[in-house]
Amino acid sequence: MNIYKAYQFRMYPTNEQIDMLNQFLGSSRFIYNYYLSYQMNAYTENKKLISIGDLKKNILKLKETYPWLKEIDSSILRTSLDDLDRAFTNYFHHSGYPKFKKKGNNESYRTICIRSTYKDKSYENIKVNLENKTITLPKIGSIKIRGYRNKKSFPFKIINVTVKKEAGKYYACVCVEEEVITKPLVPKNIIGIDIGIKDLVVTSDAVKYQAFANIKKNERKIKGYQKALVRSKRGGNNRKKIIIKLQRYYQKLRNARKYYLHLITTTLVKENDIIVCETLKVKEMIERKKHHLAKSIANSSFGEIIRQLTYKTKWKNKKLYQIDTYYPSSQICSVCGNRMKELKNLEIRCFECRECKNELDRDVNASINILTEGIKMYIKELNLL
Ligand SMILES: [Zn+2]
Repeated sequence: MNIYKAYQFRMYPTNEQIDMLNQFLGSSRFIYNYYLSYQMNAYTENKKLISIGDLKKNILKLKETYPWLKEIDSSILRTSLDDLDRAFTNYFHHSGYPKFKKKGNNESYRTICIRSTYKDKSYENIKVNLENKTITLPKIGSIKIRGYRNKKSFPFKIINVTVKKEAGKYYACVCVEEEVITKPLVPKNIIGIDIGIKDLVVTSDAVKYQAFANIKKNERKIKGYQKALVRSKRGGNNRKKIIIKLQRYYQKLRNARKYYLHLITTTLVKENDIIVCETLKVKEMIERKKHHLAKSIANSSFGEIIRQLTYKTKWKNKKLYQIDTYYPSSQICSVCGNRMKELKNLEIRCFECRECKNELDRDVNASINILTEGIKMYIKELNLL
């Protein structure tokens, strides 16, 4: 089985390379915006979009009008069009209308790895060298990188690289294809997990992973920056500095959160062969919480945990079962199966069963119920085979 994986490196470009990276980022944005308005005009006039193939041909003409486009890594021009095409496809599947890209806002470009062979030797236009700590990008050459200190070599087949600029820093996100050899699954350990706000993850083994600490402190700090931003003069140098500070702070928070979520999901997948969780109607669940930052953090974390569990179990040939959202995992007694319908209040932390007198932590009780549902699903699947 072949899987796709991404490795992200921080890049340390020279001043000259920074100029080129910025030029490429700008060109990617230019192509995207140029053809977005091109398509909008086409649609207003003919009620029809122009095919991506025709747009790619049109780039040749555009290069005559704007000769500087000839200096750009040419695969960027095509991938920008592919992104625009995807934005329109998403739109027709009821997502938002494609928006114009702004400078300084999530800037990125994607370049594709091209292979060729000459005299039995193969050549690639993108290379990652972990010994010298460099990445080679088309038209730019070799740039210093940092990341993955424990890896000595990078023997993977590179598909493409996304270059990103975030809070004034440059990153290369290298997408590779890897072959994994899968063994048939003989499950030894199965675990149920309950995902929540107070404790992020509670397992049926009664292990709790707490939610992110210091939410209030972080929120105060962000509010402080935002106030300073309001007071600062438009277009002034001070304002620019505050924006960078705010961006860096958000980035720091994002990275810490990402690291923590990976730690949780990696541990869960390593120790278990089958993991059972609920599908989450995240919005419904969080609307009860008023705390703004807690809300947004939880919101992004829930989806991210499930996303990570999905691909990590797939890579290791393990299983993830998701049970119906409407299964009342927190109302059922995990010992006798008695359902206590009145248990809706999230403040009650302890589950006390009226029938069998079982007393258990509310979330642990829920995760055991989730586990039981997962076992049922697994048995059902075995019978179908
Ligand atoms: Zn009971």
